[in-house]
Amino acid sequence: MAKRTPGDALPAITTPDYEAMVIGAHPDDADVGAGATSALWVRQGKKVVWVIMTDGTEGSEIPGLSETELMHQREREQRQACELLGIQAVEFLRFPDGHLANTEVTRKALVRLMRQYRPRLVVTHDPEQRIIAPDPDEQPDATAYLNHPDHRATGNIVLDALFPAVGNPRAYRELLVEGLLPYRVHEVYFFLSSKKNTYIDVSETMELKVKALHCHSTQSHGEFSMTEWFLHYAVKMAREASVRKGLDMQYAEEFRRVKLYVPSKREEIEAV
Ligand SMILES: [Zn+2]
Repeated sequence: MAKRTPGDALPAITTPDYEAMVIGAHPDDADVGAGATSALWVRQGKKVVWVIMTDGTEGSEIPGLSETELMHQREREQRQACELLGIQAVEFLRFPDGHLANTEVTRKALVRLMRQYRPRLVVTHDPEQRIIAPDPDEQPDATAYLNHPDHRATGNIVLDALFPAVGNPRAYRELLVEGLLPYRVHEVYFFLSSKKNTYIDVSETMELKVKALHCHSTQSHGEFSMTEWFLHYAVKMAREASVRKGLDMQYAEEFRRVKLYVPSKREEIEAV
């Protein structure tokens, strides 16, 4: 058995640097899931970083369009949206759109970024969300929403990066040499989750979210009124917040909030 001495141990850092890291599969997912909440945190003086997992090159109905051209266009759109919302940093990992998988490479990429930015909380897709379909007897004309495989893959990669890798000094030890020390993320928020338990009052930033969504011009779909749909949905979530939690708000974004680490009172005082 290996000899253990306390002096050799490398405990994980628990003091965050950024408030949040929002991780979306494609350019526009972070806007849809947490655009207004991100803008709200920024207004509160907090630092937010967005991470886009894929290059977005399958997000078009034009087969002949150059992949590089589309990738750059979508990244420009995302940067423009981030600027509007006040997001301080955005990282593009450029894994191939439509083919994202939970692998050593994708997990390590996220562990690297989490150790670099040290977000207090991570916001991402719910990997358990697979089919959203109303009862056909109740809504015969409604069709199902099948959650994109890249969204589910992103949720799984994030979870596996969060535990155990990001806080484990023996995981990806080559990162230690780069000064990327083990770190513990405090919470994870899943957007568009059927197990939602948290509603954020985004009444003051909802308008900004809609503007940010309009930056993604490669993703606009003709007649469909995005503004109307998103405002309607945010009102619906606000109503739900009122019924389920007794909260009063005009617009809400909803999440499934999961706590991973609760700092001790002493740590909280030292962090101030
Ligand atoms: Zn997406």
